[in-house]
Amino acid sequence: MNSKHDLVVPAPGIPEAPREGGFVHLNAGIVWVRLPLDLALGHINVWLLDDGDGWTLIDTGIHHPRCRDAWEAILPELEAGRPLRQILITHHHPDHIGLAGWLRERTGCAVRMTRTAFTLSGRARQPATAEERAEAVEFARRHGVAAALELMVGFWCGDYYARIVSEPEVDGWLEDGMELPIGERTWRVALLQGHARDHAVLRSTDGGWLIAGDQVLPNISPNVSVFPSDPLTDPVGDFLVSLDRLEQFGEPLICPAHGMPFRGLAARCAALRAHHAEVLRRTLALCREPVTVGDVITGLYPRSVGTFNMALAFGEALAHLRCLEVRGEVVREESPGRCLFRATPEG
Ligand SMILES: [Zn+2]
Repeated sequence: MNSKHDLVVPAPGIPEAPREGGFVHLNAGIVWVRLPLDLALGHINVWLLDDGDGWTLIDTGIHHPRCRDAWEAILPELEAGRPLRQILITHHHPDHIGLAGWLRERTGCAVRMTRTAFTLSGRARQPATAEERAEAVEFARRHGVAAALELMVGFWCGDYYARIVSEPEVDGWLEDGMELPIGERTWRVALLQGHARDHAVLRSTDGGWLIAGDQVLPNISPNVSVFPSDPLTDPVGDFLVSLDRLEQFGEPLICPAHGMPFRGLAARCAALRAHHAEVLRRTLALCREPVTVGDVITGLYPRSVGTFNMALAFGEALAHLRCLEVRGEVVREESPGRCLFRATPEG
């Protein structure tokens, strides 16, 4: 789940954040837009890049009247003969992809994303079958979750995603290493892992800028979860490998999807690595006795967590257990109704 770290000081010279539904010019050719979000995060930042005679937008906000109203106000101000020409989507989460279909329909712009984002978004929009729902209930029970079980299954299998994501059509794919000339800059795409599969970040080839989506945030650690649809992935391990790659991007100004633009990429990567090392250490300590994911959630997050956060807490607890399992530090003991994790002698 999202964990707060020491507040990163915004970079000098950065203007105050725009109001929700507003925008500010961050730099020649880069416009910072802030959109409302009905989640604990409260807002999402999306970025407009001056494309010469038009604009390229990175991410979109959710398919919700407040976000659509914001765009209805912003677009005429921006457009003035300079249309929105394309949208690039960092990943398939609703606050990033949600309005891609609507904006494409509204403006005629092109939409580009990774094949993975397109596939995962399509899958998440499908209503769960009764069989999938029953499997999710069984999955949660087997992992020791009783309280909030229905809510959690609703998060995994409900129509929540489809309600806040307009169906996107795609005009082109984003691929790792691809270079995109946009206005006076060229942007290089990197696909990173852990928070979402193939999360695209964009860094300018002059080294000055990194549009980071949710991959690296100033004040919270991006959610890193195992989901019942992919129980044997290792997103914590994948996230740590992606931090190694991010650290090689120098010291750009980082434009995150939540919070303020900031500098200090290497320090932020180190803080995120230390955070996961600490969660892994605490998770392993809880596995001295055989435990379920439910037991680990109670141990890691002793204060009760809300509905939405419960699903995130489950995903994060299982992700850290899975990372320890891949490292050989815990083993799982499966029985028909129960899945227990236990530290190995090496753990
Ligand atoms: Zn995300």
